[in-house]
Amino acid sequence: MKTIFEKSCNINGITLTDEVLDADFIDEKFKRQGDIGLPLLSELEVLRHYKELSDKNFCIEKGFYPLGSCTMKYNPKVNEVLASLDGFANLHPSQSDKDCQGALELMYKLQNALKKVTGMDAITLQPAAGAHGELCGMMVIKKHFETKGEKRTKVIVPDSAHGTNPASAALCGFEIISVKSNAKGQVDVEDLKSILTPDVAAIMMTNPNTLGLFEENVLEISELMHKNGSLLYYDGANFNAIMGHTNPKLMGFDVVHLNLHKTFATPHGGGGPGAGPVGVVEELKEFLPVPVIDFDGNKYYRKYDLKHSIGKVRDFCGSFGVLVRAYAYILMMGENLKEASENAVLNANYLKEKLKKYYHLPYNVQCMHEFVLSGEDLKHKTGVSTLNIAKALMDENTHPPTVYFPLIVHEAMMIEPTESETKERLDEFVDTMIKIYNEANTNPENVTSAPHTTPVKRVDETLAARHPDLNFKE
Ligand SMILES: *Cc1c(COP(=O)(O)O)cnc(C)c1O
Repeated sequence: MKTIFEKSCNINGITLTDEVLDADFIDEKFKRQGDIGLPLLSELEVLRHYKELSDKNFCIEKGFYPLGSCTMKYNPKVNEVLASLDGFANLHPSQSDKDCQGALELMYKLQNALKKVTGMDAITLQPAAGAHGELCGMMVIKKHFETKGEKRTKVIVPDSAHGTNPASAALCGFEIISVKSNAKGQVDVEDLKSILTPDVAAIMMTNPNTLGLFEENVLEISELMHKNGSLLYYDGANFNAIMGHTNPKLMGFDVVHLNLHKTFATPHGGGGPGAGPVGVVEELKEFLPVPVIDFDGNKYYRKYDLKHSIGKVRDFCGSFGVLVRAYAYILMMGENLKEASENAVLNANYLKEKLKKYYHLPYNVQCMHEFVLSGEDLKHKTGVSTLNIAKALMDENTHPPTVYFPLIVHEAMMIEPTESETKERLDEFVDTMIKIYNEANTNPENVTSAPHTTPVKRVDETLAARHPDLNFKE
């Protein structure tokens, strides 16, 4: 018999001894067979270990992080204080509505704030991320047509779309039809007309799109789609470009997701929790996942009786801590959300104008909150690829931009400075990019062999995807 208790142990009035455990509770196969093997280290040594690990990591607090589409902006630290308030952090989600009025009120008011910024009529806070919001939204669209008895099996997705768009629609069983981008980097309306058949359920669009360009024909597109009886899905990942200036409702969209962890300043990256609330127009209200948070004039409550609800997409009410942070950010910013978008657009255009003298800018027009450069010319001339530039930036305490996306630009570098950077920081980035450009022309080997200073040099780009095995050792 393995010794678990030195003596007997009393927990909640039950006396536990090794004999009791052996005899009654624990199946042989669950019992420890040897030493636990805990490392014997002092607290100080453990702290040093984790501090050293964290120093090897890169984060927004360490340097410039222009990761296009991901909106790596500043997350105010006061959000952390608020999310860790006792009444929020230690509240059990199974408590009755009566016992968590404060949390319900916060969610209800966040729903209202998101309704206002998106123009939508109802919101669910449940989805855990943007991609999860897409899935939820497409499930709503699917069930909507099923309920109407319409057989619509296709979803149109632009060739510039984020990969999660076709993936989410495909997960719902839709067939994906790609619509081309025109020479201006926008959805080609003529191509759209040619593929728009009565079995199309929806189009999924991002606006501004993944090239950082505003889709000028969005009203014509929404009219075309609605005339065809189809719906429009808005991928809100780029919402920080338009806050308070326009909204997806005005553009004619029916379903919207937001990435709170992008637009509304909550920490993200590294697989931590996010939140991808979904908004819908009046007609789709009854299809949302349950519960939604409602108010009867007297108390806040979780509402479950939606007639056509797709069910649940997440346990409880979603990533509550993220919701608290996003709500705090929205209250803090108020009307200034509008100015945040203006600064995001200004910063991106500033960088674009400075960098286009060195790197090829395929769509040489005013951009929104981000823009896409192509490293193709430089690669032909010097052998230095976009990947090499990304690695060289890591030696300069700068996170690389998003690279090789969108797919329609070869050797793409998608740069999003966000609204929270100073002019000095932007200028420093421009200098760094010029330095790498000059080096590519004069000493390309130094760039193709980068990074030189990071703890890990070049990793195998495909190993993790091909061998999704956490215990895998080379
Ligand atoms: C980030 C992003 C998504 C996916 O959102 P997640 O929150 O990462 O799941 C979808 N579309 C676009 C354009 C994005 O940038």
